[in-house]
Amino acid sequence: MSDVGMENRSRGVELVRDELGRYLLQYLLFCQGICNESFMLLALMRLHLTDGSSSDDFYRLNMVELNAELDAIIDLVNVKLDKLKFKICKVSHPLGKDEVSSYTKDDIEKLLLAINDDSDEDTLSKDVILEFASQVQASNKYYVYVNLESDKETELATTYTVKEIECMKRLIKMMVNNSTRPREVDTTVRANPVFKEIKNMLSRYERDRGGDTEEEVNVPMWTSYISYQIGSTEAASNMVMTSTETQVFLNTLCADKWFYRTRNGRYGLDLKGAFELQEYLRDTYELQLCSVCKQIVLQGILCNDNTSLAPDKPTTAKCNSWHIDCFHHYITHISQQCETCGNNLLENLTYIL
Ligand SMILES: [Zn+2]
Ligand SMILES: [Zn+2]
Repeated sequence: MSDVGMENRSRGVELVRDELGRYLLQYLLFCQGICNESFMLLALMRLHLTDGSSSDDFYRLNMVELNAELDAIIDLVNVKLDKLKFKICKVSHPLGKDEVSSYTKDDIEKLLLAINDDSDEDTLSKDVILEFASQVQASNKYYVYVNLESDKETELATTYTVKEIECMKRLIKMMVNNSTRPREVDTTVRANPVFKEIKNMLSRYERDRGGDTEEEVNVPMWTSYISYQIGSTEAASNMVMTSTETQVFLNTLCADKWFYRTRNGRYGLDLKGAFELQEYLRDTYELQLCSVCKQIVLQGILCNDNTSLAPDKPTTAKCNSWHIDCFHHYITHISQQCETCGNNLLENLTYIL
């Protein structure tokens, strides 16, 4: 191929990517500016299946290439967004991909049904689509649309009223206050997804260390936990809104993906909330940063000064903290002792649930 031909071809690819990028950006904004990686891949896959695609075209789509293409498209979009001081960032959910995919599974099935519904016209059968979708790996990565310049208060003010912002700040304050009170691990905690994720991570670590997969591994169990979550009764005592108003507002915050609601009806800051408000949180509160990635840890593991861990006694003697994956990295590659206090990291730590 001549140089000119090559140039035309790459310009063609760029034009196609430009258009795909515009649709993907719209899709991301439609999802309140935060979207799991597997959904973005499914969306990209759907965009490739223009009218008249055959099953052959479909099979030609390759997962590895699709992944690389998504990265390239997002890079291209970011070059343009940069001029407007916006960016699409890729962030990891602090919980592992198994837990995250248990949230996204239902939504993926719904999306697949929708794809199937409108595919009557072309020759693609449901089976072909489902097979392809099964190759989309569960992922704990999210694409987040962020404004690089605005201070978050100004940005919030375009979405929420002064009263709502005040209420949101109170709720966050309650969450932070809650986290200073260590509690004893009891049976209700066993079903907590973060607890389970930490247990899985530790048994994976012990199994790798022992090298013997047949034997039952001994997973350390710790006795205390802290939590940034608040219940709805607690939330209703915010003094800014009535309890009915608060409930409506909490629903809005969850729909906008600032907060999440657990199966037990407790509320916490969701990935988008924690990501967008990280500077506010750091400036306003003395929050623990992860010893490995230096980001705020709202769920994970805490090394605490154990002498102050009497239940109901507030403690400020927090030592170090980690996200679950960061902790695994730390004990595997760095040390099994806390770098600050020398505590044995497998013996007695505190869960951040
Ligand atoms: Zn971390
Ligand atoms: Zn420590």
